[in-house]
Amino acid sequence: MHSTMPDDPLTIARILRHASSVHGSAAVSTWHGAGFHRRSYAEVGERAARLAHALRTRLGVRTGTGPRSGQSVVGTFMWNNARHVELFLGVPAMGAVVHALNVRMSAAQLAYVIRHAGDEVVVVDADLVEVIAPVLAGLSDTVRHVVVAGSPPGDGLDHLADFPGEVHDYEELIAGQPADYPWEEDLDEHTAASICYTSGTTGNPKGVVYSHRSVYLHALHVAAPNAYDLSARATAFLIAPMFHVNGWGIPHAAFLAGAGIVLADRHRTPAALARVIEEGRPTFAAAVPTVWAALLEELDARGHGTSSLRRGMVGGAPCPPALMAAYQDRHSVELLHAWGMSETSSLVTTSLPRQGLTAEEEWSRRVSQGQFPAVSRFRVVAPDGAVLPNDGVSAGELQLRGPCVTASYHGGPGSPRVRPAESFTPDGWLRTGDIGKVSPDGYLTLTDRAKDVIKSGGEFISTTEVENALAEHPAVVEAAVVAVPDERWGERPLAAVSLRAGSGVPTEELRDFLARRVRSWMVPERWTVVDSVPKTAVGKYDKRRIQDQYARNLLDVVLLDRRPGGGR
Ligand code: AMP
Repeated sequence: MHSTMPDDPLTIARILRHASSVHGSAAVSTWHGAGFHRRSYAEVGERAARLAHALRTRLGVRTGTGPRSGQSVVGTFMWNNARHVELFLGVPAMGAVVHALNVRMSAAQLAYVIRHAGDEVVVVDADLVEVIAPVLAGLSDTVRHVVVAGSPPGDGLDHLADFPGEVHDYEELIAGQPADYPWEEDLDEHTAASICYTSGTTGNPKGVVYSHRSVYLHALHVAAPNAYDLSARATAFLIAPMFHVNGWGIPHAAFLAGAGIVLADRHRTPAALARVIEEGRPTFAAAVPTVWAALLEELDARGHGTSSLRRGMVGGAPCPPALMAAYQDRHSVELLHAWGMSETSSLVTTSLPRQGLTAEEEWSRRVSQGQFPAVSRFRVVAPDGAVLPNDGVSAGELQLRGPCVTASYHGGPGSPRVRPAESFTPDGWLRTGDIGKVSPDGYLTLTDRAKDVIKSGGEFISTTEVENALAEHPAVVEAAVVAVPDERWGERPLAAVSLRAGSGVPTEELRDFLARRVRSWMVPERWTVVDSVPKTAVGKYDKRRIQDQYARNLLDVVLLDRRPGGGR
């Protein structure tokens, strides 16, 4: 029997049209330092239409459907703000591809990803022009137009004196354009919508290209109650930068569901984030663990109101259970784990405990990486390729496939897609590089990333387990554990910790505290106390940088006997 349902495409244009009409009174609220600038979804829709006209008629952006084939890529080098949302939805809705550039990437990596994605236009927030201008000066073979967003563009424009292409002011560009646009609602849903590059701690970043269909399905999954629970009664504070994994799917999901969005723009200090929560009254917020940890310090110190927050999502790296417990106990915020990666469109699992569990079972689900949704297929695989049972014990590499899981990487302009064997199995599964186990009820617990796990003698040490135990110490703000070479054991752990101001806890006390919580051979001999643990461009612990600093003797390392009570 044939289904009687039509093959009607799932497109971002549909999400944008729906949000700007049905949910036209919902809004993106952008913090400007002393209050919010509010833009309704109806206004976002109109401005996105003006933008689309300007991109097509004034900048020659191609949409893949017109007489000249091919889709143009429009890069953004921006903070989280309403204009960025306009581009995030408007560029794909017109049929072009949006590429949110990481504002903290090195100049060399930026040049690489702009060229590799083939960005023809780059839209830059005025106060970031200075950062990207030297990179753009050498990219005239790729980038034809730079559009400066925000006022005053004056200073920004001076920095672009060496850019040989055209420079425009965003507001001037879209002014006077028609406020409606024939959005590409019937585009082939497999058309590229956006591209995102992995953080790339080793080697060049790799590009994942999302389709309209994958973004739409992912948005449905993200908005669902088991995940971020976004509805027309919710307001989402997207703390994670929009350039990180397609904004965690939140702009699309919020528009689809009619949830409001709160954004902090360039105001990213813990104090600013706390004020945004207090005054923007979001019901939901999403950030990496280090940001939640810094925010906790601020909330504890100043007692900002968090009563609007019902659910917080923590992802991008493992969150210590102690941090989840602190939010629950001290601020009544339910922090849940979200696990995913650029390759999986961002979100896969969320750690909402199912019903019918004891308090203890519930907590074990809360602190896991979370439960798999129906949209993803998953399996845990042993090093010899055997698929392991989901018994909550057998650990191996997590592999995934599904409509929101990439099956290859972008090969560069005009080049075929690439499928490196270290990332994809011959039978088409994504190798996540994460090591973990899955319980019979589908909850994932990660023990480590394959490249972080410490091989000490014949034993494996989970850096996450040691970090989580250290995070339970009340004086510890951040704790990162990395493998360093050791003559006797091959590798041993080094702990890099930052401590609460004025706590003055001796390293021996941390060692003794840890020795009571983990197996004896997991306790590091090498300790370094730092003001702040080095972080990647998206705020995760930068383990490669810590290892490099150690190798170059740049760290102040204390050597301790690993037995409790032992000396230096
Ligand atoms: P990225 O594509 O930059 O977001 O990196 C994805 C990687 O971040 C995953 O493969 C995991 O190693 C890690 N990750 C993301 N979310 C979590 C989480 N909730 N718990 C542990 N690790 C995570």
